[in-house]
Amino acid sequence: MAELNRPDRRRCTQCGREDEWNESSHNWTIAGSEGRPFCLHEWDINGTHNPIVESE
Ligand SMILES: [Zn+2]
Repeated sequence: MAELNRPDRRRCTQCGREDEWNESSHNWTIAGSEGRPFCLHEWDINGTHNPIVESE
């Protein structure tokens, strides 16, 4: 099953932290209560990222 990887969410490929796009502040906000407010890891969204992700 494939689903759209919504562009308003991103996940860190290293620490698994998730952010959600905040429309009002036009900035990323932490989706979960755990983790650091910021990290410098790579996100799973970038210029070459496939918008369709596989989910099992
Ligand atoms: Zn990270």
